[in-house]
Amino acid sequence: MREENCIFCKIAAGEIPSKTIYEDEQFRVILDISPASKGHALIIPKEHYADIYKLPEDMAGQAMILAKKLALHMTETLNCDGFNIVQNNGETAGQTVFHFHMHLIPRYEQDGNQDKLCWNHL
Ligand code: 5GP
Ligand code: ZN
Repeated sequence: MREENCIFCKIAAGEIPSKTIYEDEQFRVILDISPASKGHALIIPKEHYADIYKLPEDMAGQAMILAKKLALHMTETLNCDGFNIVQNNGETAGQTVFHFHMHLIPRYEQDGNQDKLCWNHL
């Protein structure tokens, strides 16, 4: 199902252009428009689910399997030193786009925020 006026529904459907790094029947993975680090990407399901509470369990499983595969692949290709996988739910938690997505954030020794718990401060 799609939601009218949802930017990630439009991006996932290819109606709004994005830098797509991976696509299959269920997901599109794009580079974040405002990256926290080099290679910051977003796993976006093609179906609209507002947040993790609405996400069916099989999709949650598939999203995590994809996150693991891409984290491995990106670590090899970007030669990063660590990796954050982040997923925000609700305004209070920093969610700004209300279509479920997972952040893939490659980390580099020189990004200098190793002592911070929150990747938002990068
Ligand atoms: P949230 O804060 O909801 O967890 O993350 C939303 C993310 O989507 C932000 O990191 C933001 O930069 C990114 N974003 C918002 N609009 C667009 C867009 O139109 N294109 C792309 N590529 N990323 C977007
Ligand atoms: Zn949507």
